[in-house]
Amino acid sequence: MPIDATRSARPDSAVAAPTPSRVPPPVPPPVPRGGAAVRCADLHKTYGRAEAAVAALSGVDVAFDRGRLTAIMGPSGSGKSTLLHCLAGLDAATSGRVFLGDTELTALDDTALTLLRRRRLGFVFQSFNLLPMLTAEQNVLLPLELAGRRPRIDREWLAALVDVLGIEARMGHRPGELSGGQQQRVAIARALITRPEVVFADEPTGNLDSRSGAEVLALLRRSVRELGQTVVMVTHDPVAAAHADRVVLLADGRLAGEVDRPTPESVLSALGALEAPSGTGGGA
Ligand code: ADP
Repeated sequence: MPIDATRSARPDSAVAAPTPSRVPPPVPPPVPRGGAAVRCADLHKTYGRAEAAVAALSGVDVAFDRGRLTAIMGPSGSGKSTLLHCLAGLDAATSGRVFLGDTELTALDDTALTLLRRRRLGFVFQSFNLLPMLTAEQNVLLPLELAGRRPRIDREWLAALVDVLGIEARMGHRPGELSGGQQQRVAIARALITRPEVVFADEPTGNLDSRSGAEVLALLRRSVRELGQTVVMVTHDPVAAAHADRVVLLADGRLAGEVDRPTPESVLSALGALEAPSGTGGGA
């Protein structure tokens, strides 16, 4: 995934055929509104065609509350990354609907979707995705430029983020001069600089040692508690998931339960229960 996570990833096949002018477009079924920052209804995603088709998501309905950290967990191959990418408008669902607040992502064209990602969403990836030739500060500020706003930098907000994330001494350095943990903190600051409605994090601690990972998770937690941020995070690590307010479990592309106020033990036991029936653990 390149640094510009706002790129369009929609395959041509996802673009609806033009509707003849006199035929009214079908009215989509109503989707209940609520306090969700992001939600999806009957989401399906199939990769490939015919015999090669793989159903990664098979009818997922789930809502993610504002101001909370939610982890998506499940065995390897259960559809976690696919769900995150579809919710974030990085990948197009085969069918179903995704809403960010009241905006239906699945009804937007590529240009509108790109703008929405830049202006209303933040991303943190396993591999940091910082631009190596820019300083940490330039990396953090990049989304403001991409969002097409007059680069009126909110210096107070920048200073608050840099302070919360403990990276003030590193802002003039390039990513190559920073440790993995420091790079991921810079990436978190970059994700938060536009004050996005939702931050999507895909295995944010996957490339970090356990201490740096714990720090990064504590910072994501702080962003939720102190800044009111909404975070949706994919992880396969029960310890990471225990930093969340809620864990949503996936199995075979379907919702398979959830754990409120998770602990590593309750998450492990829920995962174990998922894998037990078939006896073929996914080895997430
Ligand atoms: P998880 O994140 O839980 O490991 P994924 O969302 O990556 O699961 O994948 C779900 C299923 O979709 C798996 O069977 C995987 O092999 C398949 N899949 C994911 N991406 C692709 C792709 N680009 N092309 C074909 N199959 C894919």
